[in-house]
Amino acid sequence: MTALLVTHAHNDHIGSAERLRSGYDVPVLMHHEEVPHARRDYLDQVSVGQVLGRAWRPGVIPWAVHALRAGGTAHVPVRRPQAFPATDTLDLPGGPVPLHTPGHTAGHCAYHLPRSGILVSGDALVTAHPTSRLPGPQLLPGMFHTDRTDALEALDVLEYVDADVIAPGHGPVLRGSPGRAVALARARAGSRP
Ligand SMILES: [Zn+2]
Ligand SMILES: [Zn+2]
Repeated sequence: MTALLVTHAHNDHIGSAERLRSGYDVPVLMHHEEVPHARRDYLDQVSVGQVLGRAWRPGVIPWAVHALRAGGTAHVPVRRPQAFPATDTLDLPGGPVPLHTPGHTAGHCAYHLPRSGILVSGDALVTAHPTSRLPGPQLLPGMFHTDRTDALEALDVLEYVDADVIAPGHGPVLRGSPGRAVALARARAGSRP
């Protein structure tokens, strides 16, 4: 089976999904709680107003300009998003295992590729962002999460994943254990909102 597997339905993660689905007949799969979001029954994404409210922070204005130019506020629904059929190993290349990590969005999933030792962490754990001065493992700034408390708790899901490569939604690929990355992200989350 071939499919496009998405972590969550923010524009920067599904912008080309509908084109692949309709042009190549590739199913677009995700956690069932993310399906209505991908359909754009609602949009749970940081608003222009929220961004402007934090415009005094370093990096926020340049990032906002870039995001707007890149289509960050475009309407890019997936017409027929599908829930993946299982909560265990999916019948897809690499045998990905979904890890429900709500908080960034309700249906956000990371994916573990056990055979290759890779954790695709999506936006549940990133290694950089233009609005953050910190390099390395971290949560995205609070305004980007649907529920920051849940996003912090979701790190528990990633902590003991057996992987040595982390591929985040933002920032460079990280070599090292998820446990160490999670510990750093937690420590940093405690020192800023
Ligand atoms: Zn996101
Ligand atoms: Zn993102």
